[in-house]
Amino acid sequence: MSELLIAGGTVVTGDHMGPGDVLVRDGRIAAVGPDLQANGVLDRDAFEHQGGRILDASGHWVMPGGIDTHTHLAHPIDRLGITTADDFFSGTVAGACGGVTTIVDFSLQRRGESLIEARDRRLGEIEPDAVIDYSFHTIVTDVRGDVLAEIPVLIEDGLPSFKVYMTYGDKIVHDGGLLGILEVTAAHGGLVYVHCENDCAVTHLIEKHLETGRTGPAFHKSSRPPVVEAEATHRAIMLAGVAKAPLCIAHVTSAGAARHVAEARERGEAVVAETCPQYLVLDDSVYDPDGGFEVAKFVCSPPMRSALHRDALWDALAAGSVQQVSSDHAPFHFRNQKTTGRDNFTRIPNGLPGIETRLPLVFTGGVTTGRLTPQQFVQVTATNPARIFGLHPRKGTLDVGADADVIVVDPDAEVEIDAAGLHSRVDYSPYQGMKVRGFPTWTLSRGEVIVDRGEVTAPRGRGRRAERGPITSEALP
Ligand SMILES: [Zn+2]
Repeated sequence: MSELLIAGGTVVTGDHMGPGDVLVRDGRIAAVGPDLQANGVLDRDAFEHQGGRILDASGHWVMPGGIDTHTHLAHPIDRLGITTADDFFSGTVAGACGGVTTIVDFSLQRRGESLIEARDRRLGEIEPDAVIDYSFHTIVTDVRGDVLAEIPVLIEDGLPSFKVYMTYGDKIVHDGGLLGILEVTAAHGGLVYVHCENDCAVTHLIEKHLETGRTGPAFHKSSRPPVVEAEATHRAIMLAGVAKAPLCIAHVTSAGAARHVAEARERGEAVVAETCPQYLVLDDSVYDPDGGFEVAKFVCSPPMRSALHRDALWDALAAGSVQQVSSDHAPFHFRNQKTTGRDNFTRIPNGLPGIETRLPLVFTGGVTTGRLTPQQFVQVTATNPARIFGLHPRKGTLDVGADADVIVVDPDAEVEIDAAGLHSRVDYSPYQGMKVRGFPTWTLSRGEVIVDRGEVTAPRGRGRRAERGPITSEALP
């Protein structure tokens, strides 16, 4: 039996904040409450005598570890012959250092391939490397009858979520295919997680830009305006209504898309949504037409929006109409990867690094400024992602019996973000020079201290596949 006590901190969960200890036994939460010794739950002398470890959390907040349900580690972009800069070792180490204790990444079905083949290939890539617990969504790109028949098999196997791209070249699924997937997931306890942009409009706008010589990275923004996102978001919600299926909208970036989600929820539909730190703390001023190729560092889809949209997203998070913040960590080196699109912005690999900075950016922009309560911070970074993607109640809470995935954070400690000090292999950070709070002093995964005051103590491959149950509309936040 191994025991650990996180003593004398302020415990913050999705619905509670107050002084407390957290007792961990054999990797699970064994007790939570104010002064466990004074209240007779724990004999501290005996505990220490038996070799129990104590973390002094005075001055710290003790919270569920972050859950990042949108990462792209070792993710191939076949069109460009490029793979993201982090594998499952460097990416999960970076996550752990940023307070993440579970990721839900992706397996990618290539055309002609079965979903099961894609799953098995992906497990082989993750298992030897991950230092934190993991699962993945299945990206469905080739919707055939035999592929739809595999969806219940994957749900039964604990992989209940399916990513669909409404745009993106070789990954696109058209409305009929999306509807077919929605019908099967609705019938079997699965969830569609959808990237919403109107492909006809994006394709048309890109062609117009290139024909008129607008090829620099700053033109990425005007090729994908907010309205193309809002339209596709609305359409996906309508199709989910046809199938009576629950739906999760990936990376909401605009006021219009957020409003469509809020309206669906007001109608009682099972629609949930995520946004990402880049849409909350950056704005479209990063696409400076005079910024040269440096602008490529900020090329992701959808692009960052104006400050009005950014503020609407904070409001939606605080109101609960957007329920979670994921990173969409898709790291591409500035040198030799982003540069693939030096003469044509459509060949810049899309994505930003962010797995390590997600919690600090939301903590700083949300809690420190008062836009979110500490409990809402835990909801949007841990509890809600766990509920949406079938990880609850093992993950995302500090309830007795839950996995002891815990972060201990000094809410006053300020750090200046510097790519050289982060653990991702990528060669830049979009947040370089920003001062943030919310990096963990300690990160615990299943009761093991895996980051100890900035030092990574987790051996490669210690992560386990997280158990996930079916997803029902009623369970969604
Ligand atoms: Zn993504």
